Amino acid sequence: ARPFDRLKSLLAERARQQSWFQNGKSVVMWFRTDLRMQDNRALDQASRLAHHLNVPLVACYLVSPQDFEAHVTSPTRIDFIYRHLELLRDDLDKLDIPLHIVDVPGRAEVPDTVRDLASRWGARHVFANYEYEVDELRRDMKTLDTLHDSKVAFRLAHDTCVVEPGALKTGTGNQYAVYTPWFRTWGRYVSSNPSSLKLAERPKKNHSSARENHGDLFGCTIPELEVGDKWNKDYRDRIRMIWPAGEGEASSRLSKFCDQKISDYAENRNLPSEPNTSSLSPYLAVGSLSSRTCVKYAQDHNTSKKMNSGSTGIDTWISEVAWRDFYRHVMAHWPYVCMNKPFKPEYSNIQWSYDREHFRAWCEGRTGFPIVDAAMRQMNQTGWMHNRCRMIVASFLCKDLLLDWRMGEKYFMENLIDGDFASNNGGWGFSASVGVDPQPYFRIFNPLLQSERFDTDGAYIRNWVPELKNIKGKGIHDPYGRGAEVEAKRRGYPKPLVVHKNSRDRALNMYKSGLGK
Ligand code: FAD
Repeated sequence: ARPFDRLKSLLAERARQQSWFQNGKSVVMWFRTDLRMQDNRALDQASRLAHHLNVPLVACYLVSPQDFEAHVTSPTRIDFIYRHLELLRDDLDKLDIPLHIVDVPGRAEVPDTVRDLASRWGARHVFANYEYEVDELRRDMKTLDTLHDSKVAFRLAHDTCVVEPGALKTGTGNQYAVYTPWFRTWGRYVSSNPSSLKLAERPKKNHSSARENHGDLFGCTIPELEVGDKWNKDYRDRIRMIWPAGEGEASSRLSKFCDQKISDYAENRNLPSEPNTSSLSPYLAVGSLSSRTCVKYAQDHNTSKKMNSGSTGIDTWISEVAWRDFYRHVMAHWPYVCMNKPFKPEYSNIQWSYDREHFRAWCEGRTGFPIVDAAMRQMNQTGWMHNRCRMIVASFLCKDLLLDWRMGEKYFMENLIDGDFASNNGGWGFSASVGVDPQPYFRIFNPLLQSERFDTDGAYIRNWVPELKNIKGKGIHDPYGRGAEVEAKRRGYPKPLVVHKNSRDRALNMYKSGLGK
């Protein structure tokens, strides 16, 4: 059975056996990728129970370097998480709820650590929100058993998706592998289940004994990322300026986007030179904003308040937010796709290249394809890349350089501030045609055409590739092929690593022979 299904049935079984559990002296909220007070289902449930039992709510967060390593978490994202923890601690403090941060050397120690905390605080109930990654599901299964043996109940809430994984089925009762029909069903489900957009309440102020009994837990120290090669002070300061932390920042970005940009989102979302998208992905990824809040807020901007009617901009944006749910549903149902394996086994036979020089040029934005180089430099310098450009550079890595998509997937996680396991894996699977719904024969992007179409006047390229800033006209898209050779050479801009037409043919052959065609 899938880890997700196993955990669900184990939770149901344990819940049936726990009617005799006692109330305890506190209730524990375990924060994970849900670093917010607003619309947090597990937090709401934990707070309600604490009030019902008339005991304090105590919050905890476990820092595990092994987890960061396993998910190849970038320094920008780790720092973003730490900055969020600081604000969360202060927000909880205003409600007299302590936040205790514990270092855990490895994942194996997590279940015992949570049990020890519960025992130290006299808690009989621990609340958290589901995480759908395989290792996290397995960790939660072990935690559930460890807590159960100590007569502590572990409650998990579905919170990170608008529609929980497993809720949407095809006519024949299967999981959808194709986004479009899945999204139609998603829209119908959300419209006919108003509870899916019901926002959870903020926690209430804590029981008066919280400061008396748990005084030592207040004002915890926040971990700090050591400054090193990659995480140097200049880079850190720039990232912190571009991406201020906190749910306040996330909410104000959401409302500004919905007031100013969302109505034109359908037309403008593919143009990378302007900030036409919400830039909310880092906040959704650490959970300082919920996708439910995004969809509800956007829908409330719609005159008709119904899914798929009214503003095209709003509907298109909601359909993008839904991609996040889609990839989580895929991950929960076919966990192996997020474990370095193609969706269809026959795609395992494709012979990828591992050319280090090509890979380094791609990473550093020195491929000689200006749109690709601009995009890679945007990510290297800001921790974020525009969605259209993510598709362009991913297609370029797999289908022009024929490099193993897993190298690109990892490099993204090492550098993105919004690195999200399911969405990143889904995006790479889509671009490399190894994920659900693979389309190797027509999903090959021509970087030059993409550049002309989506960065027509070259503003995005000029911004990120300063060597080319003096090139006027069409030469900006292909300096060596379109008469800007002298200037490009003078400024040290490299020649194209490959000829797209030839690579395209090679990619088609590579897929065909891998698939035995
Ligand atoms: P908006 O256009 O404003 O969309 C709103 C939200 O919807 C986003 O914040 C995001 O949470 C969600 N969303 C939008 N498009 C997608 C999508 N295609 N897949 C999943 N969710 C989506 N997104 C991540 O959050 N983390 C990743 O690690 C990540 N890696 C990617 C890798 C590749 C190769 C590709 C092609 C896409 C990847 N995406 C990833 C999806 C997408 O590029 C970003 O979510 C988007 O660019 C974020 O910008 P925004 O917040 O302005 O998005």
